[in-house]
Amino acid sequence: MNWTNIALTGWGRSSTARVRACRPERQSELETVLDGVDAGGIIAYAAGRSYGDAALNDGGATVLTRRLDRILAFDPATGEVVCEPGVTFRDLFDAFVPRGFMAAASPGTAATTVGGAVANDVHGKNHDRHGSFGDHVRWIELIQADGTIQRVSPDDDSELFAATIGGIGLTGLIRAVCFRLLPGASPKAAVRETRVKDLDDFLAAFARVRDSTTFSVGWIDGLARGAALGRGILETAECVPAEQRPPERRGPNIPVDFPGFALNSLTVRLFNEVWFRRASAAGRERVRPLSTFLYPLDAIGNWNRIYGRRGFYQFQCVLPEAESVQGLRALLEETGRARKASFLAVLKTLGGEGRGHLSFPMRVHTLALDFPRRSGVEEVLRRLTHIVRDRGGRVYLAKDALLSAEDFRTMYPKLPRFLDVLARVDPAGRFTSNMARRLDLKPARSTSTAP
Ligand SMILES: Cc1cc2nc3c(=O)[nH]c(=O)nc-3n(C[C@H](O)[C@H](O)[C@H](O)COP(=O)(O)OP(=O)(O)OC[C@H]3O[C@@H](n4cnc5c(N)ncnc54)[C@H](O)[C@@H]3O)c2cc1C
Repeated sequence: MNWTNIALTGWGRSSTARVRACRPERQSELETVLDGVDAGGIIAYAAGRSYGDAALNDGGATVLTRRLDRILAFDPATGEVVCEPGVTFRDLFDAFVPRGFMAAASPGTAATTVGGAVANDVHGKNHDRHGSFGDHVRWIELIQADGTIQRVSPDDDSELFAATIGGIGLTGLIRAVCFRLLPGASPKAAVRETRVKDLDDFLAAFARVRDSTTFSVGWIDGLARGAALGRGILETAECVPAEQRPPERRGPNIPVDFPGFALNSLTVRLFNEVWFRRASAAGRERVRPLSTFLYPLDAIGNWNRIYGRRGFYQFQCVLPEAESVQGLRALLEETGRARKASFLAVLKTLGGEGRGHLSFPMRVHTLALDFPRRSGVEEVLRRLTHIVRDRGGRVYLAKDALLSAEDFRTMYPKLPRFLDVLARVDPAGRFTSNMARRLDLKPARSTSTAP
C-alpha cells in the first residue's frame, strides 16, 4: 500500500489535519491497511462531508475510502443491497431510482458515502416516517483493530452493531454494508412550498404535515428578528410517478474562495429577503426532480468556498419535545442578537431515537445554522450549545468541531455503553481521530512508535 502525506479538511474548512494517507482500490487492499498504522492510529475519510473533525486524524494515518465504490448485490424482491463503503448516495440514486427504489434516509448531499452514512447514522427529510440510515442496515462487515473481519448485526454482536451505527468510525473499518432500500421511488417529486410567517406558525405547520407527508423541511431566515423571528418556507414532498426523467440542471461551480467581506450581514439579509419572497403567501406546488429536492446544494459545486478561506461552522442540534418551542426561540434569538450572518437555517422534525449508542436523532425538532468563522463566533456557538445542553438536547457530531468532552457526555447518555464496546474491540485505541481525542473517546495517545 502506498502512503503519502496530505492535508485534509472537514467540509466547513475550519478543521484541518496533516495525515499519512493511503487509498485502497479494493476490499483486499483495505484489509492490509492496518499493517501500516503506528502509534498515531487511523481513521477512515470518505467524501469528507462531515463539517468538523470526525474524519480527521492530525499526525496519524488515514484511509481514503472513496474508491471502494462497488455495488456487490441487489435483491429486487426485498430491496436489499450490499455495497462497499465508498458508494455514494448519487451512485445509489442513479442505480436504483430508475428501478423504483431509493435510500430510505438521504442526507442533504448525494456526495455522502454509505460508510459515512453508517458512521453518523444520517437522517433525511423523512425521519418521522422512515427513521435514519442505521434503521435500515441489516449487517456491517468490519475490519477490527486486530485485523479480523467480523460481520455484525442486531443478532450477531448487537452491542458492536449499535456502537458502529453512529460510531464515527471508531469501532473498525467498514468493509461492506447490507441495507434495505425503500420501494416506491420515482425521479420526480411533487413539492409544495408554503410561506410561514414566524416560529409558532412554523411549528404548527410541521405538526399538521408530519404525519401525512413523506418529506418535509423548513428553511428559516436566520436573520429575521422580532415578530418575524422564525419566518421561512416549509417544503413538503411526495414522489410522483414519472413518465420520463426531467433533465438535471447543474448550477455554477465555486472555483475560488470568496473574499471574507463578500458575506456580510447586508448581503445575507438581501439574499434571505429575496429568497423568502420566492414562494407566494398562498404557496405553490411544482413537480421537480427528486434529486434537486433531496440534495438542493449539490447544484453548486464547492459551495463551502463561499465562506472564504477561514471556513465556517455548522451548528446542528436537536431538542426534545417538551423543550422544543422555548429552546428554538432561545437559539434563534441568540443567533439574531449575535449578528454573525448565518444564511438560511434548516428546521426538520425527527421521529425518535436511532439504533446507535451515539445516534443523533431524538424526537422532535432539529435546527441547523451556518456561521462564517469570524472572531467571536466560537463564543456564540458555546452559548448555543449550552442552551441545547440545558434543555436536554444534543449537538450533531457530523457537523461538530467545537463541542467539549463534558457537554458531549451530558448530551449522549449511552456513551458508557459505547466506551465499553471500544474497550473490548480496540483497547489500544488504534482507531482514533481529532474528534475522538477532543471528546475524550480514547485513552491518551501513546508516545511509543510500535503499532
Ligand atoms: C451539504 C450537506 C448536507 C448534509 N445534510 C445532512 C442531512 O440532511 N442529514 C444528515 O444526517 N447529515 C447531513 N450531512 C452530513 C453528512 O451526511 C455526514 O457528515 C456524513 O457522515 C458524511 O459522509 P462522508 O461519506 O462524507 O464521510 P466523512 O465525512 O468522510 O466521514 C464521516 C465519518 O464516517 C467515518 N467513515 C466513513 N467511511 C468509513 C468506513 N469505511 N469505515 C469506518 N468509518 C468510516 C469517518 O471516519 C467519519 O467518522 C450533510 C453534509 C453536507 C455537506
